[in-house]
Amino acid sequence: MFGWFGKVSFVPYTKVSDFAVHLKDGRLMGSVCADCGRFAFPPRADCPDCLSGSFEYREISGRGTVHTFSTIAAAPTGFEDMAPYTVVVVDLEEGGRLLAWAGETLDPADVKIGMPVQVVPRIFEETPEIRVYYSVEEPGATWGKAPVRGGEG
Ligand SMILES: [Zn+2]
Repeated sequence: MFGWFGKVSFVPYTKVSDFAVHLKDGRLMGSVCADCGRFAFPPRADCPDCLSGSFEYREISGRGTVHTFSTIAAAPTGFEDMAPYTVVVVDLEEGGRLLAWAGETLDPADVKIGMPVQVVPRIFEETPEIRVYYSVEEPGATWGKAPVRGGEG
């Protein structure tokens, strides 16, 4: 059923994307539709409900619970050196879902469906594209955030 787990990959974002800039700053951002208030993570420029094209970013906590998880023993090309590794699908507290890697503070053997976790954005590589992944840590885990940039809410 979760065949796409085998295709887990770093997600590239272009530097012009505000979403990527926020991730680089350590902030997880969802979008809120300016017209109907619909929340979405990852952010959506066009509202899936009312089709409005206006939205603003809203920072989310990264708190969530484990929806499901899988340990990859036979890694796809490019990830062989990392196997075995555990990937986790997290239901975010504010809504939305993401795929993350079990992080430093979490023993993959301890991961259970329904357990509370903290999602932390990580920069894998900064090239013309910022390559980002999420790690899943114990609740209460903290990470570095850049100061809020001027003029942004
Ligand atoms: Zn809307």
